[in-house]
Amino acid sequence: MNKTPMHELRRVCVIGAGTAGLSALKNSLEAGLEAVAYERGTEIGGTWIFSEELPKDEHEEVHSSMYEGLRTNLPKEVMGYPDYPYPTEIEDSFITSQQVLEFLRSYADHFNLRPHIKLQHEVIRVRPRLNDWEVYVWDHNNNTCDPVYYDFIYVCNGHYTEPDMPKIEGMDLFEGQQMHSHVYRKAEKFKDQRVLIIGAGPSGMDITNHIRKEARHVYLSHHLPTTPNTAFMGNVTQKPDVERFTKNGAIFKDGSEESFDYVVHCTGYQYSFPCLSTDVGVQVIDNFVQPLWKHCVNINHPTMSFIGLPFNVIPTHIFDMQVRFTLKFYTGQRQLPTKEQMIADLEKEQGERWECGFVNRKKAHQMGERQFDYYNELANMTGIENIKPVILKLMKDCGKKYIFELDTYRNNRYTVIDDENFTKRAI
Ligand code: FAD
Repeated sequence: MNKTPMHELRRVCVIGAGTAGLSALKNSLEAGLEAVAYERGTEIGGTWIFSEELPKDEHEEVHSSMYEGLRTNLPKEVMGYPDYPYPTEIEDSFITSQQVLEFLRSYADHFNLRPHIKLQHEVIRVRPRLNDWEVYVWDHNNNTCDPVYYDFIYVCNGHYTEPDMPKIEGMDLFEGQQMHSHVYRKAEKFKDQRVLIIGAGPSGMDITNHIRKEARHVYLSHHLPTTPNTAFMGNVTQKPDVERFTKNGAIFKDGSEESFDYVVHCTGYQYSFPCLSTDVGVQVIDNFVQPLWKHCVNINHPTMSFIGLPFNVIPTHIFDMQVRFTLKFYTGQRQLPTKEQMIADLEKEQGERWECGFVNRKKAHQMGERQFDYYNELANMTGIENIKPVILKLMKDCGKKYIFELDTYRNNRYTVIDDENFTKRAI
């Protein structure tokens, strides 16, 4: 690809104006680059935009998985950007989706990002040329589609819009209704119904907690090693995985059988990059996006970076770090390793994961405990500012509480005292 020295390249295309895209745009502009963010929706904010209306046509995409009454599963104290935290006037730590959306809007205004965001502009094709990137953008306002050319691409299209539906025997025999959590909107739809929820991740647990307040009975099917004994278990029965569906319900792995009216599959999402052409050189195999260096840089075309793939992390902070990390290379302040070095590094990292028991390719971008080493690595390699110790400590205090303290963990308020310390009090 391009032989021009990186520091002479200037044009940045950001795909998406959610939490990640806003960070990519802001940091690129601050680094002196010419950046534009294309957002297919009518407003910025991505995931945090709640809309009750679902498309009539099943082929039309649903852009957000947000549902009524959601409160964040992380405290706002760790959800701000490193240089733009949530206002302290908001007293609660676990806030509504609307409050997150307002925060993202205020971030865009504070850093004067809006003149650089093109709403209702959908990137439909990205292809590498000899010296740059060709990007086809469909302008929904004027119904035109023209190519534009860029030196760098930040892929910030979000990872919670392509449902990962399980394949379970008899699913097509079941005569009740089935949906994925992606299109779950309101608990009242399940009034007096019997509902099976599949999956006990953050969405499965939270949606169970919402629906059980309306439903006659909820069955929560999961394979967590330890059975959560949270307070909501009144009208909730926990079940192992489904062995097979029947006409009226399901038989579970322990041989028990239940009847129900609805199934909500809270089984997660798949990475998907429909606008990237195959010659971009990145594949998704079993939800492993490869080959990427440090989970973000496209090894085949390093002027393209993916922001926000790792999960079980501190989302906003990791997005911002990945952007600042890659910008060190894109602005010529650091030299990218060779392709061979990047591949060797990727293989080494994946080997370590395999040894630690992350043998499933689906978990290739899972961080959990590894996230802290990852942050140190990005910071040490490029000299960018690391996440403050207080944020890491706070994250350790509140992580995974959605499983065992589902009904109570949001009744805490955190206060950041300084870069090292926080306080927590029950409300
Ligand atoms: P998104 O917010 O999805 O933004 C992507 C944007 O790209 C969208 O606006 C989309 O329209 C646009 N786009 C996509 N394709 C194109 C294209 N081809 N052309 C133009 N634009 C395009 N995180 C937390 O920190 N705390 C929480 O409590 C929390 N709760 C969550 C609850 C739910 C139900 C879900 C689904 C996620 C939750 N998350 C939470 C994770 C959250 O999604 C991330 O923190 C973050 O908001 C993701 O930002 P993003 O920019 O990567 O993606």
